[in-house]
Amino acid sequence: LSEKLQGTFKKLKGKGKLSEKDVKSAMREVKLALLEADVSYKVVKDFIKKVTERAVGHEVLESLTPGQQVIKIVNEELTNLMGNTQSKIMFSSKPPTIILLVGLQGAGKTTTGGKLGAQLKKLGKRPLLVACDVYRPAAIKQLHVVGEKLDIPVFSMGDKVSPVNIAKAGIEHGKKYGNDVVIIDTAGRLHIDERLMDELKDIKSEVRPHEIMLVVDAMTGQDAVNVADTFNSELGIDGIILTKLDGDTRGGAALSVRAVTGKPIKYIGMGEKLTDLEPFYPDRLASRILGMGDVLSLIEKAQASFDENKLKKLEKKIKTQDFNLEDFLDQLQQMKNMGPLNQILEMMPGVSNKHLKNLNVDEKELVHIEAIIQSMTPEERKNPSIIKGSRRKRIAKGSGTSVQAVNKLLKQFEQTKKMMKQLSGMGKGLKKGGKFK
Ligand code: GDP
Ligand code: MG
Repeated sequence: LSEKLQGTFKKLKGKGKLSEKDVKSAMREVKLALLEADVSYKVVKDFIKKVTERAVGHEVLESLTPGQQVIKIVNEELTNLMGNTQSKIMFSSKPPTIILLVGLQGAGKTTTGGKLGAQLKKLGKRPLLVACDVYRPAAIKQLHVVGEKLDIPVFSMGDKVSPVNIAKAGIEHGKKYGNDVVIIDTAGRLHIDERLMDELKDIKSEVRPHEIMLVVDAMTGQDAVNVADTFNSELGIDGIILTKLDGDTRGGAALSVRAVTGKPIKYIGMGEKLTDLEPFYPDRLASRILGMGDVLSLIEKAQASFDENKLKKLEKKIKTQDFNLEDFLDQLQQMKNMGPLNQILEMMPGVSNKHLKNLNVDEKELVHIEAIIQSMTPEERKNPSIIKGSRRKRIAKGSGTSVQAVNKLLKQFEQTKKMMKQLSGMGKGLKKGGKFK
């Protein structure tokens, strides 16, 4: 999905002004990409409609290229689609909080139960795992193994007792031993069937869980969406945990489950290890799907703190290659307003760690750099190549630094200049007023 969208966006970015036709044709491609990623048709249709409405005739912000504006809208709507804010588990004011994990066989319930327990433990909770899967061979043993690894207690009664009774007894056990969260691991089936639903409904009505969490396998794409839809309408769920998102390159399920069920994705499973569970941040996944890393947050940061006029001048200078030390200082100061320099550079596409190492400028150093550049004559600033030995000594003295510091700065400047040249060659963004492309 990412690749497809990136291609589409590349085309948009290269454009100056966008016409309605441009937006529409880009949206057609986005639509295809989403459908191919297994996002359900209705979701795609609504999504495209929303984005198109916002993008056509949208006031384009002065500091952005229209193409980037469209990308920003797509990103925002993707985020909305997945639920906008991060949702947390609601703990009961009268412990224990009862969490019921439901889902098909192999979705990841047992593993996720452990992962969730571990996270809650870190929050200072005292979770108890309850083994209610009496059908799958060794399911109870599996939960015990997980519990042992994490040092979380597991309650089980073998496989001869009904799941409803195990659940009830488990909660009583938890109350008695001071567990403030009880996580109930249930059985799944290969497909949804009536017996499974009836059993879960039974548990639900007897146990009255605070959270019914549906665990779904993201890799099953459209099936995951159908499963979520059915569980939600038959049983009623409070939240979704999407597992195996580490293997789901398309992200289709994540995009549709929320839209189809109206229920929030609360956690995502990112691997088989018991630490691989993360709270779900819709905005992050949206960016990941767009395949642009943190470019969007960079755009926003830049938008907020870059001086537009200065930037325009800078762009021109980079293009004409007369980027000098004065500009360098100016630029460093602007970047300082945006936050830690390394963090900013890290977000820029095309900047590798190698660049970063060479450019390791911290805030304290910035003060020195300022002093050094200010100790130069205007001529030296404009034409750094004339700064040889004796001049370096003088500058070091004048700025209260050392010749090494002056050398380092000059080297950094050359590297930055080189990097800017590379970046400006990477796309036509700079020409069109885009920031770093
Ligand atoms: P259950 O039948 O729903 O209880 O599923 P299990 O917890 O037994 O998990 C089934 C398989 O999926 C196991 O091999 C897990 O290791 C694997 N699994 C669970 N969650 C994830 C995940 O987030 N990523 C990956 N890659 N594998 C997972
Ligand atoms: Mg299981």
